Amino acid sequence: MQDLIQQLINDNYLKTPEIIQAFKKIKRQDFVPSELEMESTGNYPLPIGYGQTISQPLTIAFMMELLALERGWKVLDVGSGSGYTTALFCEIVGKEGKVFAIERIDELRKFGEDNVRKYNFVEEGRAVFITGDGTKGIKKEAPFNAIHVGAAAVDVPEALLDQLSIGGRMVIPLGYQTQEITLIEKITSKRFKEKRFPGFTFVPLIKGLPGKNKI
Ligand code: SAH
Repeated sequence: MQDLIQQLINDNYLKTPEIIQAFKKIKRQDFVPSELEMESTGNYPLPIGYGQTISQPLTIAFMMELLALERGWKVLDVGSGSGYTTALFCEIVGKEGKVFAIERIDELRKFGEDNVRKYNFVEEGRAVFITGDGTKGIKKEAPFNAIHVGAAAVDVPEALLDQLSIGGRMVIPLGYQTQEITLIEKITSKRFKEKRFPGFTFVPLIKGLPGKNKI
């Protein structure tokens, strides 16, 4: 992983010391199925079951630099999957911060939560896992200083824009076949600033829960 981290630094994907530190501390091998541990240092996505993947380290580094999380922030991680991004965010927001992880597949919610427990973040109350439809956000916990969406949407879910604090940042992949990682900054309750970075691919963000997609 040291080699991969150095590569991401050399290629200018990783820049911020706190983010680099988090990448060093949170081991990707703790977030992949045991038979794939040997491959965990590869710069590519890996299957985590249920047709889903743990994202490519390069993509996660890029999104984290855009999110620019700060200590003490309250963060929403939509599509927590393996729990890897949730753990990275927990490391950066520190003990005073909090990360709400929402995942629509209950088995993956459990897989991610168990992985994040390896770092004590669940016991500490720094990470909170919820099975649910992340396109709706978590209204009772809003507003969030930052929202990370780890799956591709066509449009930005309205609820997520509402649940972002003023001055907060959201990073979400948008598009059909390939996606643009989109940084959205909330300037006022109605005004947003947007910047797009093309050339990424994600699994789709799916509305509703498995078996209940018609809701
Ligand atoms: N950050 C995660 C990304 C996992 S892939 C990681 O690095 O492991 C994206 C995840 O989003 C999948 O686990 C998928 O089940 C989940 N997902 C898709 N649509 C969702 C929705 N509407 N609400 C919550 N999770 C969703």
